[in-house]
Amino acid sequence: MGWAREARASGESAKTPMGAPRVMRSWFSTRVGLYGLNGLHVPGDFERLARETIGKCTAMAGALKAAPARAATVKALDEISDAVCTVVDVAEVCRHTHPNREFVQAAERAYVQLQDYVAALNADAGLYEALRAARRADEADMSSECRRVALTLQEDFERGGIHLEGRARTKFDDALSKSLEFGMEFQRNLVRPEHVNAVELDDDAYRLLPRKLQQCFQRSESTSSWRGVLDASSASTMLRSAQNSDVRRKVFVASNAGPEPNKNVLANLLSARTDVARSLGFQTYANFAMSPLLARTPEAVRAFLLDFSDSLRERAKDERALIQKYAANNHQGDGIISTWDKAYFMSQARGNECEFDSRAISEYFPLEGVIVGIGELLSRVLGLEIQMQDLASGEGWTEDLKKLVVKTRDGEMRGTIYLDLLPRPGKFNHAAHFVIRCSRKLSSTERQHPSVALVCNFAANSRTGRALLTHAEVETLLHEFGHAMHSVLSDTEYQHLSGTRAPMDIVEVPSHLFEHFAWDPDALKLLGKHYLTSEPLPNGMINALRKSKSIFDAIESQQQLVFAMTDLELHNQTSTLSPASIGDLAASIQNEHSLFPVVPGTNWELRFGHFVGYGSTYYSYLYADVLAEDIWKRFFAGDSLAPGAGESLRDKLLRHGGSRDPEILVREVLGSDALYEVGGGFRPRV
Ligand SMILES: [Zn+2]
Repeated sequence: MGWAREARASGESAKTPMGAPRVMRSWFSTRVGLYGLNGLHVPGDFERLARETIGKCTAMAGALKAAPARAATVKALDEISDAVCTVVDVAEVCRHTHPNREFVQAAERAYVQLQDYVAALNADAGLYEALRAARRADEADMSSECRRVALTLQEDFERGGIHLEGRARTKFDDALSKSLEFGMEFQRNLVRPEHVNAVELDDDAYRLLPRKLQQCFQRSESTSSWRGVLDASSASTMLRSAQNSDVRRKVFVASNAGPEPNKNVLANLLSARTDVARSLGFQTYANFAMSPLLARTPEAVRAFLLDFSDSLRERAKDERALIQKYAANNHQGDGIISTWDKAYFMSQARGNECEFDSRAISEYFPLEGVIVGIGELLSRVLGLEIQMQDLASGEGWTEDLKKLVVKTRDGEMRGTIYLDLLPRPGKFNHAAHFVIRCSRKLSSTERQHPSVALVCNFAANSRTGRALLTHAEVETLLHEFGHAMHSVLSDTEYQHLSGTRAPMDIVEVPSHLFEHFAWDPDALKLLGKHYLTSEPLPNGMINALRKSKSIFDAIESQQQLVFAMTDLELHNQTSTLSPASIGDLAASIQNEHSLFPVVPGTNWELRFGHFVGYGSTYYSYLYADVLAEDIWKRFFAGDSLAPGAGESLRDKLLRHGGSRDPEILVREVLGSDALYEVGGGFRPRV
């Protein structure tokens, strides 16, 4: 797809090309606009901004193609990319967050128009040739960052098939459009009304449900039963809290039975992806998808996942023994825990073993207090000053919005973080980090300061009327702040590889590292202060929290591992898999790597929408988590707030964004023995 990359639900910004070059400033008014974008004040401005950007970029592209090949060609491509990003990134965040439909619709139109324009740039053979000529003529004189920008830009062009001709080109285009279509069809089938998960219960089973869950059910007179339609969240609540094992079995089967049509759709999707990869000279789709990443090859990812699986097995058995103990207490002690009973007994065990009162813990996490605590944390760990600043008139998109300005201790401006953290109708309903403007060097003394929005949905507590965060929400907010630090501390010359525009298996490292602060006693004393008394989170609660984290860690990791391994193996085929063999492969992976076997009549793989977005790279979360844990243990554990560790993290990792080879980056942070070389790629120590 060239320079542009789809935004992910997890919030990694679209690696869309194109920021606000100096030349554009004179065109737009200097009054601060919505999302900080000058010139954006009313919905109609999007159309004008998109049009002006396209005109400007087309002129820049024309000049670039006519100019002699030199290193400045790379800078000019980066400026085009920055110019488009300046508008398209704002359109992206606006369409997900603006409460006014007119703004959303105008943003959507501008988004689509600019993405089409990006597709045309990606297919512009003149730009591609100019880049290749510049690399040939001037590579020796380029800075290492410039060389890497040039290399990744060329790879991006080629991953879009620009260098293919004739039949090869037709074959590639055909496979690519099929893979996109099958991907969309797979996702559509997950939300079609005829494929949603419904469960029928008799009167007795219905009466035993907690009242909150009864609301999901309606009486069907024709069958004299209660019919419930379950989304992912209500199904998971049912599995944790329904007392009747037979009800849990029904819910489990219904929520893990895939839409039947997805059997063929998944087979077709995988087959089209194999064709895409082979057209470009890769053996499998996984080889294609991983080639720009740190892991680089499917063999390295498989070796990592197998080792990780081995490291979990014994602990998972101990955890299962604990679940069995609770099942025995419930007179279900035949020694075998059914897969559908797992969540219920885990929930019971967690409640009893951890003395965990989530409501009492929430009282220590009022949203404003947590934000102040994170500011204190960033000051201690990274030497930053975080100031809450008033929004300029017309800059904000909702009343609850907060604006943080990030500076170094000696007053150097680093960037802006908007916090849009409370729910409202129509708003993006996951947690995400949206890039609004990328960091880049403008001159030897001037930088374009980055700007990001952290978007979450922390509901006000019904009892207190205030947003008191659950501990999981605190962890989520820290995760997003990890991404934000990657963005605002980026010191790259080019915007193309700044901040979170780094390989998938690296980009999640800072965010996973920041999650560790949510479990660290010293950090928790900063983050958790009682909303009435300001008393810090007591040690007893901290201990209970920490116990709850580890109690079923191995079993939960096994589940993620099964997803990652299946995603890998399905995309690592040289020939077409039949629908039946896809099912067999997914089942055999689950039976080998999880202590909880496949339940007959279920096929979760037909329901796993992440196959579409990740296509063999779902492993990135586990991989980044392992790297983040290694960094935590080496630099932070035991004295998490001591000065030094954070600074070295900033200098060795965060400031480089994606501008350095990821292997070198990781070895600089963690030492030369941090990665093992396997099958042409790299995997971390487990
Ligand atoms: Zn993330």
